[in-house]
Amino acid sequence: MLNREPDQTKIAALVRQLLIELGEDPDREGLLKTPERVAKAMTYLTQGYRQTPQEVLNGAVFESAANNMVIVRDIEIYSLCEHHLLPFYGRCHVGYIANGHVVGLSKVARIVDCFARRLQIQERLTEEIAHAIEDITGAEGVGVVMSCAHLCMMMRGVEKQNAVTVTSSVLGSFRTDAGVRAEFMSLVK
Ligand code: ZN
Repeated sequence: MLNREPDQTKIAALVRQLLIELGEDPDREGLLKTPERVAKAMTYLTQGYRQTPQEVLNGAVFESAANNMVIVRDIEIYSLCEHHLLPFYGRCHVGYIANGHVVGLSKVARIVDCFARRLQIQERLTEEIAHAIEDITGAEGVGVVMSCAHLCMMMRGVEKQNAVTVTSSVLGSFRTDAGVRAEFMSLVK
């Protein structure tokens, strides 16, 4: 995995080559700055490779005696599919039952972004978020549900414009206790 910032000049040269191969003229006015813009955009959209959940969390884990279910709903997701480098986007709900520690609510969305801003498949993204929340909080159970539309399906191939992919990952008591899982699922419906 790349720990340094990607080389903007190298990416721009590749994008320029891509434009030529696609039959475009990279020297026409509208495309002149495109290689650099794409390099900048791709670097931003993959910044998760250069972050860890611990860094984005920045110490925002707090002790808590409560052990009720915490749910952060409707976190926006924007990611890139690793098969086509096309976006998929949608919403994600994260729930957990604390076991002594809770994480700052706004930080849950930062942790989601840390994994979404990489090349992904939705199934793995869902799993990685769940495991990160488990690792960080030591929660007794974690659930993540995500529903996304994939532009690689909508714009090409099967062209299923209305297809939404739903994935879930449940860990700990969310997996072993049907009642806990049902409570979570009903709260994020
Ligand atoms: Zn794809």
